[in-house]
Amino acid sequence: MEKILVSACLLGNKVRYNGKDLLCDEEILLQWLNEGRVIPFCPEVSAGLPTPRAPAEIQHGGGDNVLTHQARVIANTGDDVTAQFIAGAENTLKTCQDNQIRIAILTESSPSCGSTTIYNGQFSGTKVTGTGVTTALLMRHGIRVFSQHSIRDAAALIGY
Ligand code: SF4
Repeated sequence: MEKILVSACLLGNKVRYNGKDLLCDEEILLQWLNEGRVIPFCPEVSAGLPTPRAPAEIQHGGGDNVLTHQARVIANTGDDVTAQFIAGAENTLKTCQDNQIRIAILTESSPSCGSTTIYNGQFSGTKVTGTGVTTALLMRHGIRVFSQHSIRDAAALIGY
C-alpha cells in the first residue's frame, strides 16, 4: 500500500513553533489514517528544534535559495536556524525514500513545509509565493507536495 508523508501538526501533534497543532479534519486524511497509509513527520522537530520555539522565516528568498545557500532561515530572536532547517529537510527526504513515498501533504506557509506560499521574512504577517525548505528538497527529488488545502488533488493521484 502506498504510504503518504503528512506534516505531524496536521495530525494533531502539538509540534508547531507556538506549541500548538493545526489539526486537519479532511475526511480523506482520516481514511488514510485508518488504512495505515500515513507517516507523520515534523522536519523541524526531527532536526532537534524545541517546541515551542521562536518563529522563523526565510529571508531573501525561498526554500530553493536556502538549499543553494543564497538565503537564510532566521528566527525572530535573530538566531540563524538555517542549518537546522536544512537538516530537517534532509531527514524528511530520507524518511520518504525509506518508505518509497512519492506524495507528501505538508502545512501551507510554513518555512519548512509551505508548498505555494511562505512568509516574506520580515515577520509582518505577509505571505508571498514560495516554498519551504523541506518542500523544495522533496520536490527536487520528484516527490509531489500538496498542502492541507489540496489533499483532494493528492487523493486523485492515487485513485481516490
Ligand atoms: S515543520 Fe512542518 S510539520 Fe513541523 S510544525 Fe512546522 S509545519 Fe508542522
